[in-house]
Amino acid sequence: MPARRGHGLKILFLRSACIIPSLTTEQRCARMPDLIEVPATDGLRIALVYATSGNLTGRPVYAPGARCALRPQAARCLERAVRAARRAGFGLIVYDAYRPAAAQAVFWRMLPDPRYVADAAQGSNHTRGVAVDVTLTDAGGAPLDMGTGFDDMRDQSHHDRDDLSPAVQRNRHMLLGIMLQAGFRSIPTEWWHYELPDAQEYALLPESDMVRVVPD
Ligand SMILES: [Zn+2]
Repeated sequence: MPARRGHGLKILFLRSACIIPSLTTEQRCARMPDLIEVPATDGLRIALVYATSGNLTGRPVYAPGARCALRPQAARCLERAVRAARRAGFGLIVYDAYRPAAAQAVFWRMLPDPRYVADAAQGSNHTRGVAVDVTLTDAGGAPLDMGTGFDDMRDQSHHDRDDLSPAVQRNRHMLLGIMLQAGFRSIPTEWWHYELPDAQEYALLPESDMVRVVPD
């Protein structure tokens, strides 16, 4: 038995020596799936706004059955955010995650304002699979007051405002703290948008069965 144990240890050593150090970051990323589904869990509700008519286009842009999908690196951060929110007695709602380029093109045609919508020609970090739009809920699942709604393209949706109530400031700060500590970064113009700090390092992703776009 001791001999077999030793053999096992050698295999373990060889595995760690051969596989882990010999892979570059690119190779390790290449072995990961591009997108994984992030299902609803305790403390995480999935409510994809673009799968409904309640968005800036007034019609569903995602076909029925659209799922919340992210690159594994972003999904891990979201998982950390959900745990942090739950520890504080809150929950999270995801409004959007991976967004196909065809959907981005629809939004850009509708609102060609780079403060709120990434130019479809350049691509969105949502299409890279590393951005997520979220809000916080109370323990009962009711969304907290963030002062403006999701996709409300006004200055009041920006971070660092002086014209919001203390309660709204607190709610936004809680969401910001939870998402930053989970590994995301914010952008100045949208309180709901968070993305990986190295988002631009990820390639734009092709169409995925997880989110089909309704033709115009
Ligand atoms: Zn976003």
